Amino acid sequence: MSNGTQYQVLALKYRPQSFSELVGQEHVSRTLQNAIDSGRVAHAFLFTGARGVGKTSTARIMAKTLNCAVGVTHEPCNECPQCIEIRKGTSTDVFEIDGASNNGVDDVRDLRDNIKYLPSHSRYRIIIIDEVHMLSTNAFNALLKTLEEPPEHVKFIFATTEPHKLPVTILSRCQRFDFKRVTLTKIIGRLRDIAGQEKVTISDSALGLIARKGDGSMRDSLTAFDQVLAFCGDIVSDEDVATLLGTIDRRLLAEISAAVFEGNTQGVLAGVKQVDLVGYNMRQFCQELIDHFRNLLVIRSVKKPEEILDITAAELDELHKQSLHVTALDVQRRLTLFIKAESELAYASFPRLIVEMALLKASLLAPLVPIQELIEKIKLLETATVHTPSLPWETGRAASAPLQQKAGHTAANVHPTHPAQPDADVTPAANPAGSQGDWGRFVLFVNSNDLQHGAVLEHGSPLKQEPGLIEIGFPAGSYYLTAAQDAEFIDDVQKLACSFTGGKTVVRVKSIEAGLTDAPLSLAEKKKSDDEQLMEELRLEVENHPVTKEAERVFGCSVTNVQSF
Ligand SMILES: [Zn+2]
Repeated sequence: MSNGTQYQVLALKYRPQSFSELVGQEHVSRTLQNAIDSGRVAHAFLFTGARGVGKTSTARIMAKTLNCAVGVTHEPCNECPQCIEIRKGTSTDVFEIDGASNNGVDDVRDLRDNIKYLPSHSRYRIIIIDEVHMLSTNAFNALLKTLEEPPEHVKFIFATTEPHKLPVTILSRCQRFDFKRVTLTKIIGRLRDIAGQEKVTISDSALGLIARKGDGSMRDSLTAFDQVLAFCGDIVSDEDVATLLGTIDRRLLAEISAAVFEGNTQGVLAGVKQVDLVGYNMRQFCQELIDHFRNLLVIRSVKKPEEILDITAAELDELHKQSLHVTALDVQRRLTLFIKAESELAYASFPRLIVEMALLKASLLAPLVPIQELIEKIKLLETATVHTPSLPWETGRAASAPLQQKAGHTAANVHPTHPAQPDADVTPAANPAGSQGDWGRFVLFVNSNDLQHGAVLEHGSPLKQEPGLIEIGFPAGSYYLTAAQDAEFIDDVQKLACSFTGGKTVVRVKSIEAGLTDAPLSLAEKKKSDDEQLMEELRLEVENHPVTKEAERVFGCSVTNVQSF
């Protein structure tokens, strides 16, 4: 590959020069090309995404497309003086600015002065600002003035890895394009292409290791490839790549994982020794182990793992083979152990020991009881506990049911512990003022006439309920307070209050300042606190139920979560 001339890094040498060469960002290319076709090219673009995914390359391709002497078409010609100047970075009409080093207001002012003039020999003056989020606030303000009223002959292209740091005023004036991480398969494809042009002999799995090192960044992958080529020359072996990049050989990972599932402790420890011998970082090894087991888990859990995993078809095939004799649960139980070990490795003085322990534990995990055996045991349990008290599902349902149903129950039936429940025996007209129960029935009454008003009242606290007067409090600043202060709302509720009490009743709405604790709970708050209390009671009851205790004993497990349905 070397030919005596000065070596140019691959990322520069193979920088995409047209939309068709842009790998992994087809969605961006397509939209930009459509905009060009339809003559609707925005005056400011924002390219966002991780480093090395093609933002600046796309900006240059776009600049060439807009200024190409042949005409504004799908692709730049790459041959006219304008295209060549932009490629070399010598065009007087295309300004490429690094936001990190030219971030002051003066820089932007210079820019503004500069773009006043018409382009010297192109269609547009194009300003590309890389890492635009690094601009100072004053610089942004200066920029904004130009963005608000851009001259016809000016186009802006901003690129950033951190769009959330941009002021909304800037964001709202740009057409935004989110660049994706490039998939492993696409990076490998591009590397294979380049290897061909560079006449380098290298296997797909070695290219896979290099691509993986890039972690979705084409530039980082190419930099890793540079490093490999500098070390290995024209013939690259898998081992060299693994050693050089400090990535673990997939085969070793597969061997260790097979040993774990076979319960082969000898194999497991030999594997770790091998990892240590080649000088891998134990934490990194553990992370790759987690990644490997995650892949297995996904393969065992979904029908189309290829849509979720970023791996090559060959790797998927290999992983499929490895996952044939294990269940998702088998994988999951071991994955949990590795994740725990990985977090311990951050502070460990003996990293190898932590990894060995986790792997030994994983290979010694007791096999799960076969499903048929489980069913038999459950059947036995069911017959044995037929006479034990039933779980309180009934009560659970009643408590979370809508207000209407709840009021239909007697207080004792729903909540043995709550004296303040609605008392169904008292008729509304007989007692217009007083307890929370009347309030509950009044809200129910409003609800049955006007659902929206009822929904607002559920969030109100009954401050006063006297003959001829109902005073309702809502949290200060809340949506409900605003809704309830509406004259029409008060008028409607007042009319309903009159027919509910059978006498003239005034309704007043008050604001409750936060921290004022003596206001009675609103129905919504009460329901929430009741639900929480009930859930807690339910949880205790389930945890202490004989069936649960017996299940814990038989399966050697414990309750981690209780849910009500
Ligand atoms: Zn051209």
